[in-house]
Amino acid sequence: MKSFVRTPQNIKSNISPVDFFRAELSTMQSPRGNGWCNGGICPFHSDKRAGSFRVNLETGAFICYSCGTKGRDIIAFIQKRDGLSFTEAVQKLTNEWGL
Ligand SMILES: [Zn+2]
Repeated sequence: MKSFVRTPQNIKSNISPVDFFRAELSTMQSPRGNGWCNGGICPFHSDKRAGSFRVNLETGAFICYSCGTKGRDIIAFIQKRDGLSFTEAVQKLTNEWGL
């Protein structure tokens, strides 16, 4: 039986935030090193110009200094962008990334 406790850990150990953000953010700048980088156009508001949306390539955290949307990992990103519950977001990531 699948445990909901183990699955989020499975996601975090199998999907690197760099790969995730590269796939989800078409306007993300090419990352230099780890840590925070420019995520490009913010997916959480009608952003016109890149610059205010930052993503953390180590933790998957994200923050937009323009609209204030933030979260601490890629599960939170999917939850907020797609309007899903935690469990639904975990399921979606599990399916899309073939885990
Ligand atoms: Zn924003």
